[in-house]
Amino acid sequence: MTHALTSGPSSGSTATHCPYCSLQCGMRLSGRRTPEVSAWEEFPVNEGALCRKGWSAAGLYGGRERLTSPLVRDRETGEWSAVSWDDALARVADGIRAAQADGGPDAVAVFGGGGLTNEKAYSLGKFARVALGTSQIDYNGRWCMSSAASAGIRAFGLDRGLPFPLADVEETDVLVLVGSNLAETMPPAARHLDRLRARGGKVVVIDPRRTPTGDRADLALQPVPGTDLALALGVLHLLVASGSVDADYLASRTSGWPAVQDSVAAWWPERVERVTGIDASEVRELAALLSTPPSSVVEVRGAPATSLETRPKVMVLTARGAEQHSTGSDTVLAWINVALALGMVGVRGGGYGCLTGQGNGQGGREHGQKADQLPGYRRIDDPAARAHVAGVWGVEPDSLPGPGRSAYELLDALGTDGGPSAMLVFGSNIVVSAPNATHITSRLEALDLLVVCDMVMSETAAIADVVLPVTQWAEETGTMTNLEGRVILRQKALTPPSGVRSDLDVIADLAALLDSPVPFATAPEEVFAELGRASEGGPADYSTITYGRIRDEKGVFWGGERLFASSFNHADGRARMYAVEHRGAAEQPDADYPIHLTTGRVLAQYQSGAQTRRTRALPDEGPFVEVHPLLAGRLGVATGEPVRVSTRRGTMTAPARVVTTIRPDTVFIPFHWVGANRLTNDALDPASRMPEFKVCAASVTAVGSLVEEVAQRPSRDPVTHG
Ligand code: SF4
Repeated sequence: MTHALTSGPSSGSTATHCPYCSLQCGMRLSGRRTPEVSAWEEFPVNEGALCRKGWSAAGLYGGRERLTSPLVRDRETGEWSAVSWDDALARVADGIRAAQADGGPDAVAVFGGGGLTNEKAYSLGKFARVALGTSQIDYNGRWCMSSAASAGIRAFGLDRGLPFPLADVEETDVLVLVGSNLAETMPPAARHLDRLRARGGKVVVIDPRRTPTGDRADLALQPVPGTDLALALGVLHLLVASGSVDADYLASRTSGWPAVQDSVAAWWPERVERVTGIDASEVRELAALLSTPPSSVVEVRGAPATSLETRPKVMVLTARGAEQHSTGSDTVLAWINVALALGMVGVRGGGYGCLTGQGNGQGGREHGQKADQLPGYRRIDDPAARAHVAGVWGVEPDSLPGPGRSAYELLDALGTDGGPSAMLVFGSNIVVSAPNATHITSRLEALDLLVVCDMVMSETAAIADVVLPVTQWAEETGTMTNLEGRVILRQKALTPPSGVRSDLDVIADLAALLDSPVPFATAPEEVFAELGRASEGGPADYSTITYGRIRDEKGVFWGGERLFASSFNHADGRARMYAVEHRGAAEQPDADYPIHLTTGRVLAQYQSGAQTRRTRALPDEGPFVEVHPLLAGRLGVATGEPVRVSTRRGTMTAPARVVTTIRPDTVFIPFHWVGANRLTNDALDPASRMPEFKVCAASVTAVGSLVEEVAQRPSRDPVTHG
């Protein structure tokens, strides 16, 4: 189906969106052979601003590394051969049939991604349950936002990353960012911080590193990695002690407060200091900021007056720094407790939200590519949900499988007795992005059949048996749901190279070859309409959203622009408060691994780097290790000199960057290249199954002394991977 394209002020331009992060900045694309990016000033989320990744996004198009023919790999020789689409798909279908003949429906797994459009995420979930009949589907968003999602559902009965527009940040009095470096990860969003501070508001940033976001803060706290939860307990302790909690709100809009109040009784500031490393006086300063009447804040944007003249409006936003932990769900619940205790959730300019990471991190978790989920954010173990979705799909409810394994558990089971022996990967570069990556790569290599759909030969595609070249970004139309729950339309603006197909075509073609009981649509707008019907009546109901509305309204919020103003999504309308305990990181420093390792992103790269590392306009400096001068002095290294970082799972060597912005007991490595995730810990959060990407115990040595060190203790050194 051909879609009408929105013309821009410059003739021939198409209004579309950035291929990368969850802000989904609006942009215009013009020129088909050599596309150019220009500003789309009218799109409200970014008002024409883009970061350097967005401005250089057209560099993705037409690169020499682009795959344009299906490839199959000879396992004996490792040689790749180009084959026709018919041959490639037949080989995949044969492999699927062989695996399922041997091991039943669950012998085939599907792994999706948080960058896939809503239409693809929906089709992939349907394909797994209907065409393959497998329960074994999950996606890399499990590694990104699942702890916040789990906490949001428990506390509010609903998970929408931000339950309000991002611009509401400008209307708060005190913004608390826990584990977010938005000035680098989504720079256009940082203007809201600047405008908030210009009107007298305060910004608090909590991060083990002093980042460019921390540089914009009135109070920047650098806790020991993995201790954000303890800080939240200490803050709530002080709010209770000072009588700053909103008793009326707690009584009328929440349940569970008495147990929460008891649970923070012993978290006095000095105890918080011992656990977090943050000075007790700074813990008090934070609590005072959250409870002191605003003095110089001026009204903006016509926000409605509230009864909050005597106390500040407070907004707490968490991101991966707080969430990617084995205690991530509880950490988010602890910060939600702070926002609820202050009576802020549902108040315009206040509340709690999660800053989603991946481009379609929100929509990707709503429409059925999660192991426990059906479209519309329905639970797959809910009989009514199964009946509704099966009705839309034209199959019997009993034919749908039940819940499958979560992302890491699924990958960990590949090629084992009882685990899948074949897997199809869409929109994910697992070899770079999985925790404990050397182990997970060995599991991928143990499969009888690995199929990867990608636009380039990613590190994961490179070990596949079949690689299917697919369209990307503005070569196709589809919807994404940004971090605010705003459904946007990424319009087709470029002609794909000949030889590539859409993921939607691949799914439909494979379904037909596998004698699926029902056909699969391939036109995005048709798939979206079906998604709308399947989601109707569910927590994330898209049934009234159309491509036409999205174009006319510049995005449509599912569920409404602002949520929770008068009630939460539990049956009694109340938010739930949970008493949570600080447990700390799963792996604590010891004599062999005395340093905390934390990981994250840099401005010029995105996720596993499969796209940005191939964009010439973006600097690719490779990985590095941020080291504090005190640690660097002990190691005897200077900036640029190689250091070796080892954990119980692996080791890597990269140049040191000696900076005063990191804690002396912590090192930081960006995860866009192979290496960092060979080190990270695969301990899982018990509620969300999120791995602990953000902290583990490490040893750091100067490479100059490495030969001597290894020679002295080879039998004790558990490091096995280079
Ligand atoms: S990467 Fe994110 S912040 Fe940067 S232009 Fe793209 S959507 Fe906007």
